[in-house]
Amino acid sequence: MNTVYLKKGKEESLKRFHPWVFSGAIHHIEGDPEEGEVVRVLTADRQFIAIGHYQIGSIAVRVLSFVDEPIDEAFWHRRLAIAYDMRRAIGVAGNPKNNTYRLVHGEGDNLPGLVIDVYGRTAVVQAHSVGMHVYRHEVARALADVMKGVVENIYYKSETTLPFKADLGQENGFILGGSADNVAMENGLNFHVDWLKGQKTGFFVDQRENRALLERYSKDRSVLNMFCYTGGFSFYAMRGGAKLVHSVDSSAKAIDLTNKNVELNFPGDPRHTAYAEDAFKYLDRMGDQYDLIILDPPAFAKHKDALRNALQGYRKLNAKAFEKIKPGGILFTFSCSQVVTKENFRTAVFTAAAMSGRSVRILHQLTQPADHPVNIYHPEGEYLKGLVLYVE
Ligand code: SAH
Repeated sequence: MNTVYLKKGKEESLKRFHPWVFSGAIHHIEGDPEEGEVVRVLTADRQFIAIGHYQIGSIAVRVLSFVDEPIDEAFWHRRLAIAYDMRRAIGVAGNPKNNTYRLVHGEGDNLPGLVIDVYGRTAVVQAHSVGMHVYRHEVARALADVMKGVVENIYYKSETTLPFKADLGQENGFILGGSADNVAMENGLNFHVDWLKGQKTGFFVDQRENRALLERYSKDRSVLNMFCYTGGFSFYAMRGGAKLVHSVDSSAKAIDLTNKNVELNFPGDPRHTAYAEDAFKYLDRMGDQYDLIILDPPAFAKHKDALRNALQGYRKLNAKAFEKIKPGGILFTFSCSQVVTKENFRTAVFTAAAMSGRSVRILHQLTQPADHPVNIYHPEGEYLKGLVLYVE
């Protein structure tokens, strides 16, 4: 097996179980590993420290294990079984009211580069590293076995998540089965998942608990669900007894999906209307009829350089909501940009609140749910931030 030798002293972060080896930490490589191959990582004094997937780029090795063990069928089986046990322990799997959850959350499940979302009988597998792409069939075999009787179809969806330069010829498609039944359930509500063309793996599984909280605050309120995508927050608000729900997204496809999903749960319900429109335009032209507003925009910053603009984006967006929300209104506001810290986000929202001059209280500080766990040794895995605010 190819071996990566670290520069002297560069094993410190690995000793603290951080799962990445940066290219700058490497002294030399023995052998000529291909991208995606498994390599052993040794310290300058030739002590084993980790084993993982090799890739060209600033993260050169994504650690699969800190134990010198073979990365074989039993390894994948073991890791997926642990992930599945955890999802059952927290009640998102094996739950008659919920068959939608994240089974594997990359570093959070000690499987860097791998995401698996389960939607009823279909699992969507997404590789974010070349290694996980190369090992996709091993992963799929282990998954089919660990989830026998639950998952019958495995859809591989990595066209847009792998490094373009690697030229892997990856295509989206079923690795196992091929069901067209794409209705899944979250907390007793149904929705269509577009795993063929939808964003991410087809649905934003990470808002489950925040949607449930929103439901509790929806009674008799006029709700604006801005950046609705598949309408998740909208149908929860309707179940919570909202007076009216308006869903907005700039994508016409998202609006179709939202209408379809609302119809699936509340056929013919006149309380809901969806608009395909730009968020800023809509916020400018809308009146002050809303007393519950959700702002869940796409990641404004994907890289560190874009941070300043992103914060300005959050500030502007939230300022509009503070300006228009009814007295006594509740604002659910989110950021899913990994490079925006909790503090950054809170400062942006704070500035927007101050600009409006209104009295604002923080009711809840939200984050990602337990099926998107954060590896304690990899704090970068914390990405979803939300605030629930009471606006006087
Ligand atoms: N809240 C959603 C997820 C939102 S994802 C959920 O719970 O599932 C972000 C959405 O913002 C995408 O659907 C995207 O189409 C939409 N979007 C991006 N830019 C936009 C803009 N300028 N105005 C309105 N919607 C926008």
